[in-house]
Amino acid sequence: MKIPQRQFPLLNEIASCQACVAHLPNPPRPVLSASSSARLLIIGQAPGRRVQQSGIPWSDASGNQLRAWLQLSETQFYDASRIAIVPMGFCYPGKGTSGDLPPRPECAPLWHSRLLASMSDIQLALLIGSYAQAYYLDKQVKPTLTATVAHHAEYLPKFFPLPHPSPRNRFWLSRNPWFEKDVLPILRNKVRDALGY
Ligand code: SF4
Repeated sequence: MKIPQRQFPLLNEIASCQACVAHLPNPPRPVLSASSSARLLIIGQAPGRRVQQSGIPWSDASGNQLRAWLQLSETQFYDASRIAIVPMGFCYPGKGTSGDLPPRPECAPLWHSRLLASMSDIQLALLIGSYAQAYYLDKQVKPTLTATVAHHAEYLPKFFPLPHPSPRNRFWLSRNPWFEKDVLPILRNKVRDALGY
């Protein structure tokens, strides 16, 4: 599957970014997708090693879970004219002692506001994981990710906070059955509305 990354001029600039090269385990390879007509924005964490190698955002088990949560096919999910995929860090940050390192802190302040300014049709932004929630919800974020997700209605119509769909989060899902039972149906409706389906 090929993602038309270069339809959006700012992506060319991002593709040559070297801002945090000294802190990355590999040469920078920003993995994101955007277009000026996008209506849904997905703000995740940072690409894992597999996604960094493929260059395709969410082309892993987490992406499969996220598409299942949203009830979107791969074709719908990777339609850059409707869905923008912009993580908090665009390049694989490397491995830490317990999983991947956090997204590089330079990345979102450097690029996000310019990207968002170029996407004036965004109807809804999904904030996936604590880094995106802390950055975008700022003082409105709750003390825990669980509380932030449980209070998702407070952040509408602009934002919808979600847990990370990683298989490593199965334990969180089993401890919080309300998420799949009560939150996912609301999320799917909001996503359909945003996309105009
Ligand atoms: S992570 Fe972001 S800031 Fe760092 S090199 Fe990649 S694109 Fe640039």
